[in-house]
This record gives sequence, structure tokens and C-alpha cells, in this order.
Amino acid sequence: MAGGILRPPLLFDGYVRHFDLVVIGTGSGNSIVDERFADWDVAIVEKGVFGGTCLNVGCIPTKMFVHTADVAATPAGAARLGVDEELHGVRWPEIRDRIFGRIDPIAAGGRRWRVEGNANVTVYEGQARFVGPKTLTVSIPGASTGETITADRFVIAAGSRPIVPDVAGIEEVGFLTNEDVMRLEELPERMIVLGSGFVATEFAHVFSSFGVDVTLVARSGVLLRAEDDDVAARFTEIASKKWDVRLNSKAVRVERVDGTVRLHLETPRGAEVVEGDVLLAAVGRIPNADLLDVEATGVTVHRDGRIVVDDQQRTAVDGIWALGDVSSDYQLKHVANHEARIVQHNLLHPDAPVDADHRFVPHGVFSSPQIGSVGLTERDARERGLRYVTATQDYADIAYGWAMEDTTGFAKLVADPATGQLLGAHIIGPQAPTLIQLVIQAMSFGLDVRSMARGQYWIHPAMPELLENALLKLKLD
Ligand SMILES: Cc1cc2nc3c(=O)[nH]c(=O)nc-3n(C[C@H](O)[C@H](O)[C@H](O)COP(=O)(O)OP(=O)(O)OC[C@H]3O[C@@H](n4cnc5c(N)ncnc54)[C@H](O)[C@@H]3O)c2cc1C
Repeated sequence: MAGGILRPPLLFDGYVRHFDLVVIGTGSGNSIVDERFADWDVAIVEKGVFGGTCLNVGCIPTKMFVHTADVAATPAGAARLGVDEELHGVRWPEIRDRIFGRIDPIAAGGRRWRVEGNANVTVYEGQARFVGPKTLTVSIPGASTGETITADRFVIAAGSRPIVPDVAGIEEVGFLTNEDVMRLEELPERMIVLGSGFVATEFAHVFSSFGVDVTLVARSGVLLRAEDDDVAARFTEIASKKWDVRLNSKAVRVERVDGTVRLHLETPRGAEVVEGDVLLAAVGRIPNADLLDVEATGVTVHRDGRIVVDDQQRTAVDGIWALGDVSSDYQLKHVANHEARIVQHNLLHPDAPVDADHRFVPHGVFSSPQIGSVGLTERDARERGLRYVTATQDYADIAYGWAMEDTTGFAKLVADPATGQLLGAHIIGPQAPTLIQLVIQAMSFGLDVRSMARGQYWIHPAMPELLENALLKLKLD
């Protein structure tokens, strides 16, 4: 195939190029245009690094750091098995460069493939912004004016960005986010992590395992508060033994004194100050729809800034779709990928469109311990007024749990006693994001509890026996 086109900056105003399709964002959006679009004139616009959040500053590098952190943390837990191990240290620059030495070439290769490999695709490297109905300008660094492009169809896959915490002095003091914390020149001695969701707790695990003193500041009374209450409570209890966890704490002001970051907190216990060498902000992510001025093309947004889409991922404007973090209830890569496949199908088959399936969206938390979750929490079931039963099974009471000497992990199932269908499952403990896949499969294909428990073999004495036992404990009608 002939080479694609990297659009050079135009030096004159007034040129408007029209495309069949414009895709904004090269995270999950980049997977849409394949050989089936060979006859389409396509533009792809990207303002940052090719590949988006997951590849460059999200799921993939974090999990590569998490695995390394798990290895670094192993000696600390080995003695209770009668194995004396010692951690002599971690070589941060080597770890960092190994990880990004793999990732950066993948991002560069993805860009090269688009720029050089697709004759029908024009790549615009700049920030897109709608200026009118189906009309976009792209500000290209180095160009005196933006370029204007129009299209019959648009896919908005522009993702989200870290929220800047509302703390006085934070801009002056400076702070890290997921976009730069993994590329630090050297490990700090002390890190303040602001936030209590999965990004905050994963980084807390990574850096504390590497020997950094971590202080975690949470607005809520529990960490990971979106999880099932029992899971969140257990996680908070374990985390509080490893990190300096400040719950119910509102960060109000930050200053730097003699090189030390001092974060002032308002808490029910009174005013407190925590100190660190760096501050990592991980308080959530905001959709990038605002930076795109999507209203200029008639696309509507929710109050929280997400683009409004229907089940087919269509926005309020005919011919404009949105997917992933910019529009989704779920800021998760597997959801963004699923939605991208839906948009791809609906672009190719406008006469036979399909809906996205958001029935059973799972997630994993790769902190320590790990968490895997799908479906309703017990709180959700209660608030919806559903009739439900629960069952809990500790790792400590299955054979593989004995092998691991696990004392804190468990699986909790929520089920409908009348139909025997699982409503949700929540696991905290070793390999939880892997174990939960069995339940995702059961729920997705409507497998009832009795059939799942007794309609198949369970390898003995493997970890899935955790789920087998939990299933057998559910008191169905
Ligand atoms: C630290 C961290 C860890 C994570 N770990 C996990 C995990 O383990 N599992 C999981 O499922 N999810 C995880 N996520 C979430 C996951 O990364 C996102 O849900 C996913 O990447 C969203 O994909 P997307 O295609 O919607 O957006 P993105 O991948 O963010 O892609 C959007 C692209 O659009 C570009 N863009 C934005 N605005 C413009 C504009 N105006 N003009 C041109 N280009 C623009 C951006 O530069 C970006 O490249 C993690 C996120 C973070 C931050």
C-alpha cells in the first residue's frame, strides 16, 4: 500500500478539506479505521502521543510497574512462609527505562503505520476544536494558523485528563499526575498521594513497594468507596497498615517550605499537615469534550462533562459518534475498546446498527491486595429494592489459600434467589482480576448459580475453588 499522508502545516488561510470520516483521538479511536475503510477518505487527529492514555500513561505502564512492585514486595511477605528474603533495593532508572523502552517504540510504530502505511488516511498532529457544524480546526504546533477540516462523519474518541485538585497553591507548588509520575528522574523519599480511587491506590502500591514513604489523603471515610462496602473496608484496613492513610481529609492548601511539600488538611480531627517531597494528584479524570468545544457542532454533554450518546454511541448530531472516556459512564479501556467496535460496525453498516452492551462491565484494581468486580454491589442491590442473597468465601478457607497463607482475601457474591442468576461478584485478594473473569462469563451468558457450581469440574486445589465454594453457599429459593 502506498504511504499515508502527514498533513504539513498550511501557510495560508481559507483552505478547507472535506473528508468522509474524521476520528479525533488515537486511543481506542485508532482501532476503528482498518482495511474495510480503504475506500474512505479519512482524517485522524491527535494532539498528543499516538496510542492514547492506556498505552502511554495508563493501564499498560502502570501494570508493568505493578508487577515489578509485586516482586519487590515479595520478601516482606515471605518470612511467614518460612522463607527469609531480603530486598536489597530497586533500580528505578532501569525499571522505568525497561518499561518505556517497550512502550515508546510501540507508540512510535503506531504513529508510523498510520502516517506511512495508509494511503487513504491523513494524520493531523494537533489539537482539534469544533468551530461550527461538522467543522473542525486543528491547531498544529509551528503553524501560524489552524487548519479547518469538515467531514460527513466524525468519531469523537478524545478521552479524559486528570482533574487538577481544587487546592490553594497547587499550581505554584507543582504536582505530578499519571502523565509524568512514571517518568521521574529519581525516586522521591516521600510521596503524598491525593485521591483514593484505583489510580491513587495503584500508584501508592507501586511507590511504597519501591521504598517510598507514601501518605494517602482521602476525602472519603474509606478508600475505593465505589467498591462493595465489605471490599472497600477490608482494603482500607490493609492499606492503613502500610501507608499513612488520612481519611475524611480535605486538602485545602499546599506550600513548599525548604523543598518540602506541606499539604494542609481539614479533618474531623482538626487541622493536619502532611509532608512529602512530591505530590501526586489522582482525584479523578474529566472528559476532554470541553476542550473540543463540542457544543459548536451541536453535540450535547451531561452535567459532568461527558458527551451524551445513545446505545449505538450516536451523539445528538446525526453522523457524529463518541466513545470511551469522553462519553462513557465507565472510564475503562475494555469499555472504550468495546464501544469503538460498536462505532466501527455502525459506520460500516448504517442499515444494521448494533447497540453497545454495558450490562456487566467489570473492573480490576491492581493495587495490593488486588480487586476484581462485576455487576451490582450489595449496596446497589439494596438501593434498587431488589430481593437478593449474598455469600462470602475467604481465601483462608480454601486449599490454595492455605498454600498462600492468605488471611485477608475473600469473594463475595450477590445473587437473585428466585432465578439463581448472579447479580454481582466482588473479590479482594490474590489474582482477583483474573478470578472474576469466571463470573463475568457466567453473567454474560446467563449461567445460573447451580449450573455454574455443579455443571463443571473445578480444578483441585486451584484458586477458582474460592468461587465454587462461594456459589455453593448461596441460599437460593
Ligand atoms: C493511571 C491509569 C491507569 C489505568 N489503568 C487502567 C486499567 O488497568 N484498566 C482499564 O480498563 N483502564 C485503565 N485506565 C483507564 C484507561 O486508560 C482509559 O479508560 C482509556 O485509555 C480510554 O480510552 P479512550 O480511547 O477513550 O481515550 P484515550 O486513550 O485517552 O485517547 C484519547 C486521545 O485523544 C487525544 N485528544 C484529546 N483531545 C484532543 C483534541 N482536542 N484534539 C486531538 N486529539 C485529542 C488524546 O491526546 C488521546 O491520545 C487507566 C487510566 C489511568 C490514567
